[in-house]
Amino acid sequence: MTNWTVEEFMEDIRKETETQFQKEVSEASHQEIYFAISAIVNHQIDKDWEKTNKLYKNKKPKQVYYLSMEFLIGGLLKSNLLHHQMLDVCNTALEKLGLEPEEIYKQEHDPGLGNGGLGRLAACFLDSMASMRYPGHGFGIRYRYGLFEQRIINGYQTELPDYWLDNEYPWERRKPEEAIEIIFGGTVHMHKKYDGSLEFNYENTDKVLAVPYDIPIVGYQNQIVNTLRLWSAEHTSAESPLEFKDYYHEIDHQHTIEQISGFLYPDDSSHEGKHLRIKQQYFLVAASLKQIIREFKNNGNNDLQKLHEKVVIQINDTHPSLAIPELMRILMDEEGFSWDNAWMVTTKTFAYTNHTIMSEALEKWPTDMIQHLLPRLYMIINEINERFCQGIWFDHPELRLEIPKMAIIADNQVHMARLAIVGSFSVNGVAKLHTEILKQQEMKEFHQLYPGRFQNKTNGITHRRWLLMVNPRLSDVISETINDRWIYRPRELTHLLRHIHDKPLLTSIGKIKQQNKQELANVIYRMTGIKVDEQSIFDVQIKRLHEYKRQLLNVFHIMYLYNELKDNPTLDITPRTFIFGAKAAPSYYFAKEVIKLINTMAEIINHDPTIHDKLKVVFLENYNVSLAEKIIPATDLSEQISTASKEASGTGNMKMMMNGALTIGTLDGANIEIKNLVNESNIFLFGLRAEEVYHYYHSGEYQAYEEYQTDERITQIMNQLRDGLYGYYEFKDIYYHLLSTNDSYFVMKDFADYVETQQCVDQVYRNKDEWLSKSLINIAHSGKFSSDRTIKEYASSIWKIDNI
Ligand SMILES: *Cc1c(COP(=O)(O)O)cnc(C)c1O
Repeated sequence: MTNWTVEEFMEDIRKETETQFQKEVSEASHQEIYFAISAIVNHQIDKDWEKTNKLYKNKKPKQVYYLSMEFLIGGLLKSNLLHHQMLDVCNTALEKLGLEPEEIYKQEHDPGLGNGGLGRLAACFLDSMASMRYPGHGFGIRYRYGLFEQRIINGYQTELPDYWLDNEYPWERRKPEEAIEIIFGGTVHMHKKYDGSLEFNYENTDKVLAVPYDIPIVGYQNQIVNTLRLWSAEHTSAESPLEFKDYYHEIDHQHTIEQISGFLYPDDSSHEGKHLRIKQQYFLVAASLKQIIREFKNNGNNDLQKLHEKVVIQINDTHPSLAIPELMRILMDEEGFSWDNAWMVTTKTFAYTNHTIMSEALEKWPTDMIQHLLPRLYMIINEINERFCQGIWFDHPELRLEIPKMAIIADNQVHMARLAIVGSFSVNGVAKLHTEILKQQEMKEFHQLYPGRFQNKTNGITHRRWLLMVNPRLSDVISETINDRWIYRPRELTHLLRHIHDKPLLTSIGKIKQQNKQELANVIYRMTGIKVDEQSIFDVQIKRLHEYKRQLLNVFHIMYLYNELKDNPTLDITPRTFIFGAKAAPSYYFAKEVIKLINTMAEIINHDPTIHDKLKVVFLENYNVSLAEKIIPATDLSEQISTASKEASGTGNMKMMMNGALTIGTLDGANIEIKNLVNESNIFLFGLRAEEVYHYYHSGEYQAYEEYQTDERITQIMNQLRDGLYGYYEFKDIYYHLLSTNDSYFVMKDFADYVETQQCVDQVYRNKDEWLSKSLINIAHSGKFSSDRTIKEYASSIWKIDNI
């Protein structure tokens, strides 16, 4: 490992700016300095990367491949510096050169290659695998345009293209010599060969070249560098334009190639049956499988019958589940396997993670679309379905009546979750409650058919990025108190519990929170011009905007407090700053109205002198990983208020807890597990339980209109939405939507309990010592939510792999 002195590092920065830009450091722009430092780090990475690849080649361990349509990796300069033990030296060197380190780090454009939690989870997993020396790699798509950049204009969300490759991206390495040809469309012809076996020939297909771009995944100070391989779609050079059989078709195809790795679909937790999206999915799957098999063979294995002994493929939600029929196709059509042998290998190779039970998110593709685009794969999916349904009919007569609910192909649609369950040896949910709901409700027939296939792996977050990197002050104090072993063994954060009565410790944790809040206040001022009170409660809800996440419930609370203050300006409440960050899918009208509502309340409240700055509302635009990194260390109160049963796990809840925030939340997703650790007295719980939510859905007992009419506070808020807020803005659509859907996410039903619980928050916050000791208890238990724990569980009970 490197032991740079500050002087050496400064010298290297000078050398790099000289060779790359022929400039003195003093003449170089921040961006040029950023590139210079990236180059220094890259020299180190390349050495370790080669060593790691050699290590894997020699030891030939079983490898994990994590297939995901999204990887929300965030900025890499700072984390790569940290993981190479260079961050402190670099900071000091920059300061000595008269530069503000953060100014340099923020030159990096976040690759927005994910929507939210699912993509960020994939990134945390890669970090944990490398840091714990597991041979695990990611496969994804190198979208030229990541998730849109959000601007708030007149309170409305507008979307701008996120062209993150504007400048060179220093962390990727293009590998054109490892490109792979992918085939779409055409017609399939079946021939019987002399020996009786079948041969499949394709005609009039479209070809796309998948070119890999590798991003190093640097383990934490352990010299391991794993690989995230992102595929880019390019033209194959083979055919010349003169040979075009169908000119218009060819033009169309050339256009499609541009689009395949063109942009990331901006929908989170919802599914649209778009042609291009399934092309993206097949593109990822086909390229990755070819690469996996190539590597398997390059490692001297020539018996694909043993593929599963050296390879396990985790599919992140159903998005990459075409990998199942694609592997069948390769084994049978290209490697001469029988169906049964191919199926045996396939079902020992794949494991599937389910991320949601919300019906609008479950992927279903029209059969004719798959048939047209992937004719051979469609034949295979059909055969999987036939055999599966017949298997139930003959071997599980008790499930015969359930066949329509379980069939992979039903109503002219391919049900991807069913395909994924049937084709995998493991299906996992992402928090205990979520897994129970899968087993007992949403997938209960499958659980009955395959007892033992379902298991739980509660999500996690990398504590290296989400504590060590983003909150260095807190990390230092923790290390001074309990020693720095927690960095390698995050569970040791529980040793903080021995210091629960350590007044000076609590004081310094309080001070650090205050400093972090001060820094966030500066960010808020720079971004919005709003001055917030750093002594106020920083009440934060940051996550995708979705009805089920109930940002609207938070707004109802704000409107309620404001109405109270208007009636009684001397009302004794603890000052609060409500902070939001959230992107809405561009076509999600309701979600966009909620953004406008938040901004409208901000406009009204922040400019009302009569409430004496007791409330402020801030909407920070373009929520992404780097903004999260600034907000989370400064959070006092973490809003995790989804309708119970809807949030599969949540990971934002874990990040904020780890930084000393207290949670206000429902008993949903991982909140339940947080509660079990910290105890009910150190979390603010409210609202319907999952069973109650199910009960109301089934019984039809809940009447939203009654709720609206009986609770005067709700009546007032709803009427304000309908008639105009304080005589001005109207949000009739939200009003009518809530009533016409019978408040299907129980915003009004949970309102009273939420307000009451927020009053508890207000009271507890007044007692600084009490708040701080709860905060410490949360930090102390957060080690359980390190993704290191999650990855260890995957490794031992799904992947069956060892670290190297
Ligand atoms: C952690 C994270 C999420 C997930 O947040 P939830 O509150 O669990 O939905 C989404 N986006 C970004 C940028 C994140 O860092």
